Amino acid sequence: MASNRTFTMIKPDAVKAGNIGNILQMINAGGFKIVALKYTQLSKADAETFYAVHNERPFFGELVEFMTSGPIVSAILEKDNAVEDFRTLIGATNPADAAEGTIRKAYANSIGENAVHGSDSDDNAAIEGMFHFSGREIH
Ligand code: GDP
Repeated sequence: MASNRTFTMIKPDAVKAGNIGNILQMINAGGFKIVALKYTQLSKADAETFYAVHNERPFFGELVEFMTSGPIVSAILEKDNAVEDFRTLIGATNPADAAEGTIRKAYANSIGENAVHGSDSDDNAAIEGMFHFSGREIH
């Protein structure tokens, strides 16, 4: 059975561009309830751990540098079928391929600087949420 929670980050490009409010608005309008929310910045070690699954990829260094380049907003979101529905709301990894009405279509610049993260499975949603939040920060 699909879990009802997913994890997201508003990435440094979208924070710098002043789009925190716009993206949270799209998240709420998409039917997601915010159950945890934090304005923070990843250290190099945080980003390397969070994206460890990509550490053999050619863009890993760029990804870590980008994700540590400024503050982010991290959040846990609740909705039926949260992981899949949120992946639909954010759109394709490359904004050039993202559908109309998606967050990445509206606010992403490139395949690397693509405005938002969304967990790709229920297991990863739980792992990523726990990486960012303690139990008493989840409501
Ligand atoms: P996602 O699940 O849609 O976020 O995409 P992936 O899991 O494939 O990749 C994770 C993140 O790595 C993406 O959101 C991008 O920020 C970054 N990324 C993916 N592909 C590339 C690439 O070709 N170049 C760069 N610089 N970053 C990339």
